[in-house]
Amino acid sequence: MPSKISCDIAIVGGGLAGSLIALALHAKRPGLDIRLIDGSDVIGGDHIWSFFASDVAPEHRWLVAPLIGHMWRGHRVAFPAHAREIDGGYYAIRSEQLDRHVRATLPPRALMLGKRVASLTRSSVVIVGGTRIKAGGVIDARGPADLGLFALGWQKFVGQELVLSDPHDQDQPLVMDATIRQTDGYRFVYALPTGVERIFVEDTYYSDVPELDPTVLRKRIADYAAGRGWRVEHVLREEQGVLPVVLDGDFDAYWASGGQQVPKAGMRAGLFHPTTGYSLPDAVRAAALVAELDSLDGATLHDALFDLAKKTWDARGFYRILNRMLFRAASPDERYKVLERFYRLDPGLIARFYAGRSTMLDKLRVFSGKPPVPIGRAIAAVRSRPGTAVRR
Ligand SMILES: Cc1cc2nc3c(=O)[nH]c(=O)nc-3n(C[C@H](O)[C@H](O)[C@H](O)COP(=O)(O)OP(=O)(O)OC[C@H]3O[C@@H](n4cnc5c(N)ncnc54)[C@H](O)[C@@H]3O)c2cc1C
Repeated sequence: MPSKISCDIAIVGGGLAGSLIALALHAKRPGLDIRLIDGSDVIGGDHIWSFFASDVAPEHRWLVAPLIGHMWRGHRVAFPAHAREIDGGYYAIRSEQLDRHVRATLPPRALMLGKRVASLTRSSVVIVGGTRIKAGGVIDARGPADLGLFALGWQKFVGQELVLSDPHDQDQPLVMDATIRQTDGYRFVYALPTGVERIFVEDTYYSDVPELDPTVLRKRIADYAAGRGWRVEHVLREEQGVLPVVLDGDFDAYWASGGQQVPKAGMRAGLFHPTTGYSLPDAVRAAALVAELDSLDGATLHDALFDLAKKTWDARGFYRILNRMLFRAASPDERYKVLERFYRLDPGLIARFYAGRSTMLDKLRVFSGKPPVPIGRAIAAVRSRPGTAVRR
């Protein structure tokens, strides 16, 4: 029978962003009556989320520290004309650990799993079946709103965690191995050593189209493993992603597409890196911000999260310009040259790029020197607006 529930704050979507907000609020305001609602029976879906140490500010590390399942002291990249090792922490969080930690930390009544939300406002939630929640404030963290409002390229991949019959030879993450055959845009393999005989291998494309053929990519992962001399005993788990690479767009329209006055977090708020589609660094910042707000009513939550998301969007025009150069100026089979050149730059600049915190000097440095694409096409791509084709 449908029931009525009252609480201080309802967070809809127990994925990455929603869970981090719930954890931050519980830590900073222990008495708060929080509800974390998800349509699935588990928190966080089935993911491995990776990030660089420099993505998370020192004062926010307490939030992600209990979630980290793997850590390395550096990582590598490899291109046809250049390979490099870069120092600095690199971490991975498994969704199973997020699920365990949220269950162990929040009181049982805070978790409303297996509950699909039919509709919400900034102070109420209706669950399919009729249960109604009245909340001081609601945050919508249900994943992307209408991405169709942006001009997009795609970062798409299939990743498999492989169990090998012998130890592998890789002690650090290889975050881009672009020495492989280029097809369907910029292609690279991402390989994360998760154990002595275990390695997570992702076949990834910066592609013009979102379509993905998992059968083909699985075969390419198997070929890559064979090429590295790894004998695969079995595939432990698999994940797939088609993430947005934003070339341009209207932030206000995107925000409104998820409900004009509704407080939003995560992908739904547009809080993701325009080039990688990654959202963990922004999700940590948003959680820390919410936990420090004076009031958690719907209007305050809306204004604070809108302000964060809008300022973040405005500050990231540079990445959208770079994306236009990558997708509109470079021919698909030569896109790797843009990344190859980027990875010759200073490690600090590279770290700030992934954290979404490039300085003015970083931006000038990225654009200085001979561009890896024809200059005429580069200028046209920088100037082009959504939907504008750049002639090759
Ligand atoms: C395979 C994959 C790997 C990725 N790897 C990384 C990475 O390494 N690092 C990184 O920073 N980013 C990564 N990303 C990108 C991005 O950070 C993730 O997609 C991240 O999970 C987005 O967080 P979110 O909270 O916005 O959405 P999600 O984590 O997708 O959470 C949304 C939640 O809302 C729930 N939901 C949706 N609709 C309803 C409804 N009607 N009722 C109730 N619940 C609902 C869903 O069940 C889900 O749990 C990855 C993405 C994918 C797909």
